[in-house]
Amino acid sequence: MSIKVSNVTKEYGLQKALDDVSFEVQSGSVVGFLGPNGAGKSTMMKIITRFIPQTSGVVEVNGITIDDQARDIRKDIGYLPENNPLYTDLYVKEYLTFVANIYKLGKATHRRVNELIELTGIGNEQNKKIGSLSKGYRQRVGLAQALIHNPNVLILDEPTSGLDPNQIVEIRKLIKDIGSEKTVLLSTHIMQEVEAICQKIIIINRGKIVADGSTQEIMARTTVKGLSVLVEFVEEVSQEKLSNIDNISEIKMLGSNTWLLSSKNQKDIRTGIFRFAVENGLTIITMQQKGIQLEEIFQSLTNQS
Ligand code: ADP
Ligand code: MG
Repeated sequence: MSIKVSNVTKEYGLQKALDDVSFEVQSGSVVGFLGPNGAGKSTMMKIITRFIPQTSGVVEVNGITIDDQARDIRKDIGYLPENNPLYTDLYVKEYLTFVANIYKLGKATHRRVNELIELTGIGNEQNKKIGSLSKGYRQRVGLAQALIHNPNVLILDEPTSGLDPNQIVEIRKLIKDIGSEKTVLLSTHIMQEVEAICQKIIIINRGKIVADGSTQEIMARTTVKGLSVLVEFVEEVSQEKLSNIDNISEIKMLGSNTWLLSSKNQKDIRTGIFRFAVENGLTIITMQQKGIQLEEIFQSLTNQS
């Protein structure tokens, strides 16, 4: 495995930002580190990349314990920090060359810089000042600097934050492509992001891991409200009347005659809805069973106190 975090705790003064956190990230996978703001994601990532020390616990990257003796480990790690701080006065190519020199790429520098410019699609921006770039292109420069020394392990802290929808799609695709060869740990507070690019999810809330597994495993393990059915009637119907449907637990109005009806205990309420419609002389024009959304799982896991 590529990253192994064992019983890591981080205290900022009296506050425990990380509380006995343990997880593993296997090589060759993209793992989503998901949690609300303040959950401890960035803190964990700074510890893995040796920017700050943990209070206690052990982090291993590629089998090597991260401590003061393991200075070389940064060669194996690429890091896109939160808010992607870049030198805004430098030109893109100049900056990437500067980073390549930090990693002592020597003769390979020129070739590697050009490869990364190509890979991250910033050819047209390479001679511009970083400060003049749009957020999406800055994020690409951030990815290019994280990848320049060809690390096995990539730590990306909210790589799509602040991007517009088109840029998000492009950056996600780029990360997915990169992830097929490397180990990627990516933090996000966006549910769809992990659904789109991650094989595995680790959910953190208030410094504690609340779930860890594949999307499917997490869905199977979590009991959320129940199954929901989207129903559209031709006629108007009151919420009070709808509450007579067998096994119904929740009624949400989505449009004038469109409702989201949820069942108790994962029971299928579709036959009950149909019977209700017949008994009340209503016509159903849409009935669609909704699977359990990852979003709901996330809420049910992170709202618990
Ligand atoms: P996330 O990245 O999930 O939003 P962070 O790791 O940034 O969360 O923060 C976790 C908690 O630790 C938050 O409550 C935050 O206020 C606190 N924290 C982060 N950095 C510091 C710091 N340097 N000093 C004090 N508290 C901090
Ligand atoms: Mg953060």
